[in-house]
Amino acid sequence: MAKPIVAIVGRPNVGKSTIFNRIAGERISIVEDTPGVTRDRIYTSSEWMGQKFNLIDTGGIDMGNEPFVTQITEQAQIAIDEADVIVFVTSGREGVTDADEKVARILYQTDKPVILAVNKVDNPEMRAEIYDFYALGFGDPLPISGTHGIGTGDLLDLICQNFPEKITDEEDGSIKFSFIGRPNVGKSSLVNAILGENRVIVSNIEGTTRDAIDTKFVTETGDEYTMIDTAGIRKKGKVYESTEKYSVLRAMQAIDRSDVVCVVLNAEEGIREQDKHVAGYAHEAGRGIIIVVNKWDTLKKDNKTMKDFENLIRQEFQYLSYAPIVFVSAKTKQRLDRLPTMIKKVNENHSQRISSAVLNDVLMDAIAHNPTPTDNGKRLRVYYGTQVAVKPPTFVIFVNDPDLMHFSYERFLENQIRAAFDFEGTPIHLIERRRK
Ligand code: GDP
Ligand code: GDP
Repeated sequence: MAKPIVAIVGRPNVGKSTIFNRIAGERISIVEDTPGVTRDRIYTSSEWMGQKFNLIDTGGIDMGNEPFVTQITEQAQIAIDEADVIVFVTSGREGVTDADEKVARILYQTDKPVILAVNKVDNPEMRAEIYDFYALGFGDPLPISGTHGIGTGDLLDLICQNFPEKITDEEDGSIKFSFIGRPNVGKSSLVNAILGENRVIVSNIEGTTRDAIDTKFVTETGDEYTMIDTAGIRKKGKVYESTEKYSVLRAMQAIDRSDVVCVVLNAEEGIREQDKHVAGYAHEAGRGIIIVVNKWDTLKKDNKTMKDFENLIRQEFQYLSYAPIVFVSAKTKQRLDRLPTMIKKVNENHSQRISSAVLNDVLMDAIAHNPTPTDNGKRLRVYYGTQVAVKPPTFVIFVNDPDLMHFSYERFLENQIRAAFDFEGTPIHLIERRRK
């Protein structure tokens, strides 16, 4: 499940986000002619020749008012901390600069593979310029052009050749989960409270190349859990660790490695925009989700408080209608004992398989009660469905013409599937395929 991580580093304006976008395969961040443009996305999943990996654009982690040199060296430090392979980007147009040398000096401190890419080598004549880059001390420079897509295939080959043999995320049968949420909602308090209530077996699990601080524990019922630490939670100190982009990055990594993600909200402060971003990532990643409303002790409550809060969540997080909600307090430990059981149940639902026979009974029943839509006199025909994947459960529905499947009818089928089986806490995906 753990995918290797590739980080792109380099001084501003060498083309990091251009390369990021090219590898990501879509234009997901804004590239402008100004250095230091804001980037929305700095973390993405990608694939090359069947090898999956995650990619970080460290250039997108802006440290506010910190001086330029601090920013680029901290970004290089992030790459060292987070990545399995580092791509050091420079520019063939400008040649080797002082700032490149500063980045290089930080990167000398790691044993991790560093690939030196000389970007903006847009034509073969420019290849003569790359020899100066040997002086940076990272072996053969690789000429590429991010905007023209020249050499990016070679770069990807080289990246994949340098992945560590084995990135262990032990498949030990334990349930992997994490707490995510904006700063101050109470993630570390929840982590500590949960660990305080259960028997910790191993903390600081070795084996990952990154400095993950996972903790394995066992509950009274004998179930084993691995808590994936979003770090930043229990390890704080460096300048970049307080930046929002970095906390999102850690959250994304934790989401990636979790089966179940607990999205933590703060009852005291209510729902904020940033809560939705974080939750949105977990949803997009197809993980099991539980909404944990923490600091429940801080509210003056009457018999409507919980229901009102629940309605608010349902309204603000409509795409998470499948996620159960639990109101807890890390401080008083109220209802915290329920959490492991909920995580276990959501994990089961997330990996649940439905037999085709039973699934088709449900689908055919649904169609009999609510006839398929028509478009220009042409009626959607649903032939059969089958589950093709778990985590999240994914169903292929064979139809005469996928274009005839309206969003609302798909939603109806999903609801019928949810009514027939327990998929609480997990997204389910429906994919229509044409069958003649
Ligand atoms: P970053 O600050 O390192 O992320 O750099 P950007 O990706 O924002 O690119 C900085 C500028 O260099 C933009 O104007 C890009 O269009 C330009 N650029 C990026 N890659 C190339 C390239 O391969 N060739 C040329 N000629 N320009 C490029
Ligand atoms: P994080 O940034 O999400 O890891 O949040 P912390 O766990 O550091 O908590 C932020 C603050 O909220 C700390 O002062 C905690 O003591 C406080 N806090 C956390 N959980 C609760 C809770 O359930 N009730 C109350 N009243 N305070 C809490």
